[in-house]
Amino acid sequence: MYRFGIDLGGTKIEILALDATGQERHRERVATPRNDYAETVAAIVRLVRDAEGRLGGSGSVGIAAPGAISQLTGRIKNANSTCLNGRPLLEDLQQQLQREIRIANDANCFALSEATDGAAAGGAVVFGVILGTGVGGGVVVNGRLLTGANAIAGEWGHNPLPVFLPDAGELPGAECYCGKRGCIETWLSGPGLAKHFEQATGRTFTAEQIVAQSPADAQCEAALQAYEDRLARSLAGVVNILDPDVIVLGGGLSAVARWYDTVPRLWGRYVFSDAITTRLVPPRFGAASGARGAAWLWRDEITQTRIDP
Ligand SMILES: [Zn+2]
Repeated sequence: MYRFGIDLGGTKIEILALDATGQERHRERVATPRNDYAETVAAIVRLVRDAEGRLGGSGSVGIAAPGAISQLTGRIKNANSTCLNGRPLLEDLQQQLQREIRIANDANCFALSEATDGAAAGGAVVFGVILGTGVGGGVVVNGRLLTGANAIAGEWGHNPLPVFLPDAGELPGAECYCGKRGCIETWLSGPGLAKHFEQATGRTFTAEQIVAQSPADAQCEAALQAYEDRLARSLAGVVNILDPDVIVLGGGLSAVARWYDTVPRLWGRYVFSDAITTRLVPPRFGAASGARGAAWLWRDEITQTRIDP
């Protein structure tokens, strides 16, 4: 028996197979069919059948999907790959692959992967953070993914940025696609960092370029110092509520080595505790964590929140 995990992304669909010991045995990726739901389902089915053919065995299937899965209907909501929204992805895949399937949000799968056998393994309470095109998160408690009553546990990216000095130029904040202003995502996503840098300096840089040019370039360095303080403030809000043992960063901006040193020094100002033992760590599996976490949705020894058709 294998555990198949599928990362359904906006540009690619990746399948990964773990054997009984958790070792990776197969990996393949294809381009995501553009805005075509039926083709997307067919591509997933082909990837599973192809993997089973190559490995000569069957297994469980878990899917990491964008957006959230409605607890009521099992249908996708809030996905940036909009052709998925409102579609019975779970039902259609179960019918075509003739087995029970589990689907979870991609940030949740990242958190589950890193908490199971990644950088946060052994942590009782783990908060997994995505700092990429968007900002998301997932919560794992004692090895169990916390889905939540509304299937949004960990979605800190659409909380407002904590602002302690109203004159610091952070209010009211930029408009967010969710309909509010000043969401954490508008500050801490890669595009958010680039946008604020352009507003402050008139220079059009990507987040990657800003990181690469600091500390030599004073304006890039100032932007990263502001970013890491905002990250510390935002994570302090999570620490005050969840008090995690480990916070693991993922997404493109998790590759910035300085955060793991600067942010824990800065968050002491904002966390409501004299001492803070929470560890901030880089990911072990990085981009592979979506598919790995999806595979671990079928870890037998833990009970997962299951979405029935
Ligand atoms: Zn928002």
